[in-house]
Amino acid sequence: MTFKRILLKISGEALMGDGSYGISTDMIRFLSNEIKKVTDQGIELALVVGAGNIFRGVAGAASGMDRSSADNMGMLGTVMNSLAIQDGLENIGIPCKVMSAITMLNVCEPYERVKAVEHLERKRVVIFAAGTGNPYFTTDTAAVLRALEIKANVVMKATRVDGVYDSDPEKNAQAKRYTSLTYSRVLKEDLRVMDAAGISLAKDNSLPILVFNMKTEGNIVRAAIGESVGTLISAE
Ligand code: UDP
Repeated sequence: MTFKRILLKISGEALMGDGSYGISTDMIRFLSNEIKKVTDQGIELALVVGAGNIFRGVAGAASGMDRSSADNMGMLGTVMNSLAIQDGLENIGIPCKVMSAITMLNVCEPYERVKAVEHLERKRVVIFAAGTGNPYFTTDTAAVLRALEIKANVVMKATRVDGVYDSDPEKNAQAKRYTSLTYSRVLKEDLRVMDAAGISLAKDNSLPILVFNMKTEGNIVRAAIGESVGTLISAE
């Protein structure tokens, strides 16, 4: 089954590529080409990007900053990442709009749900920047929230590994990948797919979450057209 409208969540760290901080232009190029494979199928695509490659509020708070100020900095980091992805997409001819939950009219559009849906219907990629616009949240929760607002069929959460495992596959060669999981199990076993607030919001509204590896070439489009990649989290 091909999804009609997808919300793709990319962590800030994914944008570092092989580096340890900031934005890798090679990674932006790779990601843009991968996204093109999806839009070429006529699938509507919205993105939410994190800021772990730049700044996370919890880290600022741990070193003595006020948490809300630190979270505002984190949200601004997501705007930088969103602009980088927009640039990468436009460079290969994909129309793209950035809509920010924190208004900055000179830089990008303010987030407006109805307008976002219009952009998607016109086959523009929409990047939702600045998370939810509120401190104490994460971009995972923002991804679920925006997906619900735009009535996306699925949240596809790109990670470094091929899905959800019963132990850390980067440490344990015997680790087993789940092909599907229920929200309840993810929450009960604290499987760290995304934060509990995001999972709970998805569970309450029966929004499926697909966790998959974005680094494997062709995987985003494979997931988008419904091939079995990663781990699908749903009610069953
Ligand atoms: N953030 C926030 N509210 C939101 C989304 C994000 O305050 O709705 C801040 C928070 O400080 C977070 C940072 O932005 O640490 C970056 O987001 P996240 O940690 O989710 O990025 P990722 O881990 O996906 O790179």
